[in-house]
Amino acid sequence: APATIGLTGLATMGRNLARNIARHGHAIAVHNRTTERMTAMLEEFGEEGDFTGCESLEELVQAVERPRAIIIMVKAGEATDAVIDELVPLLDEGDIVVDGGNAHFTDTLRRQQTLEEHGLHFVGMGVSGGEEGALNGPSIMVGGSDHAYEQLGPVVESIAAVVDGTPCCAHVGPDGAGHFVKMVHNGIEYADMQLIAESYDLLRSVAGLEPHAIGDVFAQWNEGDLESFLIELTADVLRFDDASGQPFVDVVRDEAEQKGTGRWTVQSALDLGVPITGIAEATFARSLSGHTDQREAARKVFSTSPDEQRVEVDRDTFVDQVRAALYASKVVAYAQGFDQIAKGAEEHGWDIDLGELATIWRGGCIIRAQFLDRIREAYADEPDLTTLLTTPYFADAVKEGVDAWREVVATAAAGGVPVPAFGSSLSYFDGLRRERLPAALIQALRDNFGAHTYRRVDRDGTFHTQWAAEGRPEQEM
Ligand code: NDP
Repeated sequence: APATIGLTGLATMGRNLARNIARHGHAIAVHNRTTERMTAMLEEFGEEGDFTGCESLEELVQAVERPRAIIIMVKAGEATDAVIDELVPLLDEGDIVVDGGNAHFTDTLRRQQTLEEHGLHFVGMGVSGGEEGALNGPSIMVGGSDHAYEQLGPVVESIAAVVDGTPCCAHVGPDGAGHFVKMVHNGIEYADMQLIAESYDLLRSVAGLEPHAIGDVFAQWNEGDLESFLIELTADVLRFDDASGQPFVDVVRDEAEQKGTGRWTVQSALDLGVPITGIAEATFARSLSGHTDQREAARKVFSTSPDEQRVEVDRDTFVDQVRAALYASKVVAYAQGFDQIAKGAEEHGWDIDLGELATIWRGGCIIRAQFLDRIREAYADEPDLTTLLTTPYFADAVKEGVDAWREVVATAAAGGVPVPAFGSSLSYFDGLRRERLPAALIQALRDNFGAHTYRRVDRDGTFHTQWAAEGRPEQEM
C-alpha cells in the first residue's frame, strides 16, 4: 500500500521524526540524499513501523498516496531550496510540501509563493524539542493553509508531546506564521538560558557557592514557580562531574555558540520596533563570550583581585533574592517575546492565538515550564492583552519580587558581575512604569538639530520651534 506521508532528510532530526511518525502507525516513505543514511536507519529501526525506503526523490514521490504530503528535514537555507527545486517538478497539483527545518520565516513566505504558483501547498513547520523531542513528542508549530492542515494535522498531532490530554501542536496561521513563532520561541529560549546563567554566576561569585550546591539550589527552585525543563537540566549539569573529577561546568570553555535563531529574533524585533531587551542581551552576551581577544585585552588592563570586589551578602537571603530576580526577569522576557509575536502577527496579517501558543509550549519543547500555564490563563482571560506584565498573576509576582530584583542588580554591579539580562529586564520594567521618560529630551534635541517636530503635553498637534530665531538661552558671562 502507498505510504501516508513521505520524509526526506534523515539526519538526527529527520530520522527521529520519521521513527516517531512510524511508531504512531502511519506508513511512511523515507529518503536521504546519501542513501547509506536511509539504509542504515531501516536496518536499525525498520521494525518499529511501516517504512518504505527510497533511493531517490522520484521513488519517494511515487511511494506516497495522493494528494501527497512530503516533509523536508534537511539543513536550513540553500539545502532546503535545492531539495524543493528537485521535488517540485515531480509533484502533482494539490500536493503538500512541508519544511520541518529551522527556516527563516521570510524564506518560508517566499517558498510558499513560489509553490502556490505551481499549484502546490507549502507548509512551514516549526519543530521544537531537539532530537529527543523529535523522537518522543516535540512541540509543533504549523504555518500553512487550512486545506493543508486538514490533511497534515492528524499525523502531526499524533506525534506531538501531550500535556493534560492536549497535543502540543497547533495550526498557528498561514505561510510563515509557524516558523515565525518557532523563531521567537528560540529567542525566548536564549533569554531563559542567559537568566539562568546569570543566576548561577551570582550564586557562585557573590554567594560563594560551589557548582554542586548551586545545582541543589536549582533543584529546589524546580519545586516551585520556576519549575521547568531548563531549570531541571541546570540542576543536573551543575551536579555533574567530568571524568577528570572537576565540576563539568568548569571544564567547558566559556564561549557560548549560536546557530542564528536568536539573531533572527532580534533582527525581526528591530524591524517591528518591539523592545525585546532580554532576548537581545542574551544574544549579545553569547557574542561577547566569543570575543576572546577583546576579553583577554580587557582582563589584562582591568582585572581586579576577587577580594577587592567582594560584596558581603547573607547567603540564604541572597539565594532567595536571586530566585525572585530570575522569576521577574523571566516574566519580562516572555512578555517581550509574546509582544513580538503579537506585533509580527499584526504586520503579516496572521491571526495568531497567543494563548494556544502558551498551551503547545507546555510540552515537547526546550522552554516547557509550569509558568506557561499561567500565560495560557492570562490570554484566556483577556485575548487582546496589552502586555503579560500587568495581568494579575504576573503583576503580583513582579510586585512581590521587585525589591529583591533591584537588590540583586545593584549587588551585581557593586561586585562587578555582569548581569545584562537581569539589568535590562529591570530597566525595561522601570521604563514601562515610569511617569515621564527622558524621551522628552531626546525629542526636543531632535527638533533642535533636525526640525523633527514634537508633540506637547498640553495641546494636540505637531510643533516645531524656530530654535535659531528663539535663540539659545543667553549665557551669563
Ligand atoms: P542537519 O541540519 O545537520 O542537516 C543534515 C541533513 O541535510 C542530511 O540529511 C543531509 O543529507 C541533508 N542535506 C544537506 N544538504 C543537502 C542538499 N544540498 N541536498 C539534500 N540534502 C541535503 O540535520 P538536523 O537533523 O540536525 O536538522 C534538520 C533540520 O531541522 C534543520 O533545518 C535544523 O535547523 C532543524 N532543527 C534541528 C534541531 C536540532 O536540535 N538539531 C531542532 C529543531 C530543528 P546527507 O546525509 O546526504 O548529507
